[in-house]
Order: sequence, then structure tokens, then C-alpha cells
Amino acid sequence: MTSTDVPGVDRDVRPMTKAVLSDEDLPTHWYNLAADLPAPMPPYLHPGTGQPLEAADMAPLFPAALIEQEMTTERFVPIPEPVREVYRLWRPSPLYRAHRLERALGTPARIYYKYEGVSPVGSHKPNTAVAQAYYNAAEGVRRLTTETGAGQWGSALSLACTMFGLECEVWQVRASYDGKPYRRMLMETYGGVVHSSPSELTESGRGFRQRFPDTTGSLGMAVSEAVESAVPDPEARYALGSVLNHVLLHQTVIGEEALRQLGMFGEEQADLVFGCAGGGSNLAGLAFPFLRERLAGRTGTRVVAVEPAACPSLTQGRYEYDHGDVAGLTPLMKMHTLGRDFVPDPIHAGGLRYHAMAPMVSHAVELGLITAQAVEQAEAFDAGVLFARTEGLVPAPESCHAIAAAVTEARRRAGTGEEGALVIGLSGNGQLDLPAYAEHLTGRRTSAAGDQPF
Ligand SMILES: *Cc1c(COP(=O)(O)O)cnc(C)c1O
Repeated sequence: MTSTDVPGVDRDVRPMTKAVLSDEDLPTHWYNLAADLPAPMPPYLHPGTGQPLEAADMAPLFPAALIEQEMTTERFVPIPEPVREVYRLWRPSPLYRAHRLERALGTPARIYYKYEGVSPVGSHKPNTAVAQAYYNAAEGVRRLTTETGAGQWGSALSLACTMFGLECEVWQVRASYDGKPYRRMLMETYGGVVHSSPSELTESGRGFRQRFPDTTGSLGMAVSEAVESAVPDPEARYALGSVLNHVLLHQTVIGEEALRQLGMFGEEQADLVFGCAGGGSNLAGLAFPFLRERLAGRTGTRVVAVEPAACPSLTQGRYEYDHGDVAGLTPLMKMHTLGRDFVPDPIHAGGLRYHAMAPMVSHAVELGLITAQAVEQAEAFDAGVLFARTEGLVPAPESCHAIAAAVTEARRRAGTGEEGALVIGLSGNGQLDLPAYAEHLTGRRTSAAGDQPF
């Protein structure tokens, strides 16, 4: 479907609907923003001593290759061939022009979305899961432990582990374990072992159950359990689905592809890039290559991080050293945080329920490279429903936040007549989140107020 009568289309911009790259165009390198940051990142600190963390301190948690990537300031890191081979199952992912959404909004802006919902589990998360499983397997690790919120990360890691012959053990936040059984089934189909968190299996889990008997769980609690399970086992390591530098690095395949695809549309640059931000990885993956172009003076692209009003780490949190988990087992990282005890309401966008933000995203916000906005749940779903009814894809509840912010900007431009390209990170699809859509639509009909439980 193409259209030449779309308002505001420049003659130079091609009226295509999607830009598709071939197998040979799959990126060969990940991009590391640390190489180009105008000020270096504050170091991680040891949770016991408060001294800057050494590579050896992380060895019980991660394989050497990932620790190296966590600390490197090399600009480009080669993607190993076995990782690219698995990526090819769904990558390069498509970049779409949202002609129908533009028409519905009557905007002169050109709206694009980079769609990560084409992966086998329906989100961007396998981009790092596959890399992490590969490096662990290459160093002889047998079992990976992790936490999961809505189940997207747990299913991504379960998928990646089966590709490289690893066992996968997942602590799933109780609210999702009880309320989102399909992702648990997906993890189990891939061979993952799933526990409801907080569980009776770890000391920290038993402690949380005592302190907060009615808790719906949180990512921070589940991290504590997964870390505690991996550390004493020499054949086990821990895997994190967001926040850390190496995770953000792996996600940059998204932005590298998107830059080339925008070029295929004839766009010289994006005005604005919108990504939803939970731990910050899909936003960083899309936006960091765009920031490289801006820092090199080639574009004026601005980046917007969109978070849920119920968990507003960037817009309401403090920029200070905090732990990544509730029990305080992880290193201290300087980041925007609501405090490691913060337990957000059980909103539908489970993947955005994290108390803090990736240190590198936080640092980029401090440097003025990224701006942040918070969006209410109902506004996010309204945008998701509009998107589904115009573009046809049902977005993940997380992705709806990025869409909502872009819709607001596109509507504003309908008033001012400003053109230009807006790029949305569509981090996943909402096929397994239809009950959340149903509740939203019902709530709209009965005008029930407030957040609904899962
Ligand atoms: C996990 C998840 C997120 C949030 O995580 P980030 O690290 O902030 O990207 C967003 N969208 C989807 C679809 C997810 O699965």
C-alpha cells in the first residue's frame, strides 16, 4: 500500500510502506556509545567495599567476554558468526512508514516504526539473549539463571538457551506468573524451568515473603533470587535482560538497521526518535546509533525516552548510586532510580516495571542527549488501539508508551505544519497481552478509573 496524496510528503521521500534489508545486510558489528560520550561513565562500585568494580568481581556472574564488553570503550564490537546465524531467523527486522496513522492524525510529519515484534518471542529481547547464551556456552557454562517480569525476557533467554544447549532457570515476578500464563508456557516449551518470585528456593526469596507476605513481586526481588542461585554454582552464570552496558550494546543492531532503512526511504535524518524505557535497552538499541550520527555533527536527531507514569525513574527518580536488585547483591551503579525498595503498581506494561534506568541511558539523559517523558497507562493504550486500527499491528503494552508520545508530537505538528521524520521503536507485539487490551476497552466503555490488575 503506497499513497502519493499523503499530506506533507517531500518529493524526495519515497512513498514506500516498508524498507526490508536482505540477509547480507545484517549488521556485522554492534555500536558502543561509550566510545563517543562527551564525558566518561561513572564507574560501577563494589557492593561490599564501595571501591570501583574490577573485572574479577563480576566473574561469578558473567562470562569473561561479556565482562569485557561491559567495560570496553571500543567503538565497534564484531558480532560472532554463530550469533548472526541465529539473528537471521528474524533479522534484519522491517522499518515501516505509518501512512495510515499519519492520515488518521492529519499530520504533516512522516512517522516510521522499527518493528521488533517479528522475533520468535515477539520482542527485541532475543537480540541480547542470543549473544549472552552464545558467550556463556563458548566459555563452558551449563546453566543460566535470570528473572523475568511479564515473561518476555524469560522467553527470549529460554529460546536462546535451547539454541546453544544451555539449561535456563527463570524467576518470574508473581503478578505475571499468575496473570500471564502463556509466556510461562512459552518458556517451558523452549525447555526453561520457571519459578514464581518471591520463591521459597532462595534465602532472599524467603526473606521477601516474610517481610511482604502479600507482595505481587518485583523485578528487583527476582534479580536477587536469580543472582543468589547462580553465584555459588561454578557451572552457572546469571543473565540480565536490560540495564547493563553489554545488553545495550547487543541491542544496537536495531538502530544500525534503522539508519540504513531510513536512507532507503530517502530520509536524510530523523527529527525525533521515540522509545519506551523500562531498563532502557530497546530505547538504547534504536537510539544510540542515531546519537553517534548526532555527536559526529551529521544530524540534529533528538531522542525521547518514554516511561510509564506508574514507574517514572527518569522523570521522578534521583540520579545516584543504587543497587540493581532489592537485596543489594548487585554492584552499585549510578543511575536514575526510585530506590531499590520501590514496588510499582502492577500495570500491564510489565516490562517497564523496574525501579531504575540503565546507567548509560541515565548518563546520556544527564548530558542532555536524551529527554524523558512519562505517559499514563490509559493514554498509552489509547495510542496502541489507534495504532492497531490504522497500521494493523497490535503493539506490546510497553511499546504503546513510545507510540503515545509520538502521536502527541504528530498531533502538535498538525497544528504547526512542521514536517520531518519521527521514528518509533516498536519493541514488540501484543499478541500475548490481549487481556490487557480487553480490560482497557472494557474500562473505556464503563469509564472505570485507575490501573487494572493483570
Ligand atoms: C522488556 C520490554 C521492554 C522494556 O525493556 P527495555 O530494556 O527498557 O527495552 C519494552 N518493550 C518490550 C516489548 C519488552 O519486552
